[in-house]
Amino acid sequence: MAAAKRAREYINFVPTMGALHEGHMSLVREAKTSTGKVIVSIFVNPTQFAPHEDFDSYPRVVEKDCELLKAEGVHAVYLPSVEDIYPEGFATTVSVKRDYEPLEGAARPHFFDGVTTVVSKLLLQTDADKAFFGEKDFEQLFTVRRMVSDLNIKTDVIGVPTVRDQNGLALSSRNAYLSKAEYDVAIHLNKILASMCDRIKAGESLKNIQKQGVAALLDKGFEKVDYLEIRDAESLKIVDEKTGPLRILVAAHLGKARLIDNMAA
Ligand code: AMP
Repeated sequence: MAAAKRAREYINFVPTMGALHEGHMSLVREAKTSTGKVIVSIFVNPTQFAPHEDFDSYPRVVEKDCELLKAEGVHAVYLPSVEDIYPEGFATTVSVKRDYEPLEGAARPHFFDGVTTVVSKLLLQTDADKAFFGEKDFEQLFTVRRMVSDLNIKTDVIGVPTVRDQNGLALSSRNAYLSKAEYDVAIHLNKILASMCDRIKAGESLKNIQKQGVAALLDKGFEKVDYLEIRDAESLKIVDEKTGPLRILVAAHLGKARLIDNMAA
């Protein structure tokens, strides 16, 4: 069995929810630099959406996605049905406990259990040797790493840097919800994070930088800030001052969109 496993081709796996953009494609291109086959999954996972969230309206363009993936030379696209992932009688939840003050988990308590359950299933179903995740969803990458390590899942988790558009806005399938006027507000998000990074480097108080960052977002036109936090980059714990690598993480609402982003500081 072990010998047969070793004889099979190396599997590089990229899980997505589709509506693919250059951010997803950078994961695919990174996967292609590794020997073996590249598998991409497209599955809009119902369990990571709360009833009031955008599961029904989430963009679905599977044919176009498959064309893009074919052009990119992907070896297989996995399009599971809901029954393939959650068959009749499915009763297991994979849940990662947090030892830091929740970020996404505070506003979206259902979210990470949905993600870790589906990702663990996808990693096992595809027998992935490597799986590629975007730093765009930094806390998700952090949580998946924890889960894979805790459960001895034999997949290397690879983080890939965030791809941004010409104005620095992190690419996201949900950017499609933005009107032109909202887009003009949205492009301030990364600029505010970058200016917070500069102020951290200059040695200003983290508390002040954080407070003024929230004020700047609201001033530029964001309607609600779920969180804007400066955290330890390795533990995601709250820090009072910079003693090592930090990460600024944000989630803010604009019209129908809830944008998330993060930056190393
Ligand atoms: P999604 O389809 O939104 O679930 O994303 C699938 C994968 O693509 C996740 O690992 C995301 O972190 C990653 N991703 C999404 N947007 C970007 C981006 N702008 N840059 C890099 N990776 C991204």
